[in-house]
Amino acid sequence: MVSPELLEILVCPYCKTKVDLMKRVWLVCRNPECRRKYPIRDDIPIMLVEEGDKYRDIAVEQLPTS
Ligand SMILES: [Zn+2]
Repeated sequence: MVSPELLEILVCPYCKTKVDLMKRVWLVCRNPECRRKYPIRDDIPIMLVEEGDKYRDIAVEQLPTS
């Protein structure tokens, strides 16, 4: 579980916009132009642009939860 305190300070590494926790294991950039999505693996948010790029065109509903 990512703490709310950590969530507060996390931003998208690409555009520096805040991210939202989705489906418990994804951090989704709030910038509609960016839409990068960062996975949380073993409670560690993977805040890397190259990770976010991979899921850019996948809708939040389609993101895997495990
Ligand atoms: Zn972004």
